[in-house]
Amino acid sequence: MSQTRFDKVLIANRGEIACRVMRTARRLGIASVAVYSDADAHALHVREADESVRIGPAAARDSYLDMDAVLEAAHRTGAGAIHPGYGFLSENAAFVEACARTGVTFIGPPAAAISAMGDKSAAKARMQHAGVPLVPGYHGDDQSDEVLKAEADKIGYPVLLKASAGGGGKGMRVVESAAGFQAALDGCRRESQAAFGDQRMLIEKYLTRPRHVEVQVFCDTHDNGVYLFERDCSVQRRHQKVLEEAPAPGMTAELRQAMGEAAVRAAKEIGYVGAGTVEFLLDFSQGHDGSFYFMEMNTRLQVEHPVTEMITGQDLVEWQLRVAMGEPLPCTQEELTITGHSFEARLYAEDPEQDFLPATGTLERFALDLEGAGLDPTRVRLDSGVESGDVVSMHYDPMLAKLIVHGDDRAQALATLNRALAALDVRGVVTNRNFLQRLASHPAFQAAEVDTRFIDHHQEVLF
Ligand code: ADP
Repeated sequence: MSQTRFDKVLIANRGEIACRVMRTARRLGIASVAVYSDADAHALHVREADESVRIGPAAARDSYLDMDAVLEAAHRTGAGAIHPGYGFLSENAAFVEACARTGVTFIGPPAAAISAMGDKSAAKARMQHAGVPLVPGYHGDDQSDEVLKAEADKIGYPVLLKASAGGGGKGMRVVESAAGFQAALDGCRRESQAAFGDQRMLIEKYLTRPRHVEVQVFCDTHDNGVYLFERDCSVQRRHQKVLEEAPAPGMTAELRQAMGEAAVRAAKEIGYVGAGTVEFLLDFSQGHDGSFYFMEMNTRLQVEHPVTEMITGQDLVEWQLRVAMGEPLPCTQEELTITGHSFEARLYAEDPEQDFLPATGTLERFALDLEGAGLDPTRVRLDSGVESGDVVSMHYDPMLAKLIVHGDDRAQALATLNRALAALDVRGVVTNRNFLQRLASHPAFQAAEVDTRFIDHHQEVLF
């Protein structure tokens, strides 16, 4: 990574994250360049940028995923750095290398760190070496049927088969007993071959009611690394996060420190720089007192980073920009503290009554009247990629905005979330707002009885 200062940044993304990055850039006196596809020519992120460049047609592979088009836009506008947001090119090692070759600063980790976490088996081997706890399992090179079966028997059923090259839940299957192992293995290999062109499998003990707890880490180019505590993202629908919170309920100071330090070790092991998230499964079930296991590391800024900003008072995009310019981290571990509690709800253009089918249309109205609802504007944040009058197309991820709240404690923050959700006025496009309200007001969620099977076990929230 080159470490020169820059006064103009290109944001290789769209929607709420592009708008959010621009806000911090503007505050720091850095000009922003938006890129857009034909479908986004009039989008909010284009209107908010200082300059904008068309990079191609609507299809993402011909625009937001087109490395040459993005780099060309940076050169044409004289942007010294590229912020990738999340998704698209954010975890693409080849793109990071292309940035380096053409003398543009990539705001993110080195290519080698992205590659190290890209393969699940290789990542687990590295983490084992760094002393980061793993789910009991097998991630070895011997992929014969006999060895895999023997390892599964040894781990004990149920086990989870995962494609080493996997992602997005593909090539992943739970095996309940030895009798079903071979059929599941054959099925996973086929799926993985089709999706990733790779048949390697790893096996993990299948935890029945784990929580998804992830640690925000940050490293600079001066060998400093800190953790900005954890987020609980257990409430998921088909492995897609829906509600997130920070801090995670039920954590002790010891557990928080142990997980935080493990996450920083994980990042240091791979020479990490910038914002990253180390995801863990946390097991509080049946006599487990909070064993935690490494799952994967996301080598980018996460969608849910604002809950961390709310409880720490830090601006993570500012940290990213400073680190990319070669500055040391703005604070030390000792200077970081948790104040209050925060939730984030993801507002999607989708129809819960039609199996969450993405919805499109013109937003006749998109507004959150805080004053009218008696809400404190310092406690509610709406990170939005849209405004009233905007058109929601079917080309991209259907997330419209994120509603983030802060409270002195969990109960207060949750009450604010419920009131803010009710105050959100969205017309013209179907959203999951009512689904979010049913989740946020559910007694089990209010009691913090969460795990990754929450929605499976509380199907009433779906209707
Ligand atoms: P992907 O990269 O395909 O998203 P992950 O390894 O990140 O796959 O796992 C996705 C989700 O699957 C996790 O958030 C968790 O809910 C569940 N999961 C993963 N590993 C296990 C496990 N060993 N036991 C139980 N659930 C798991």
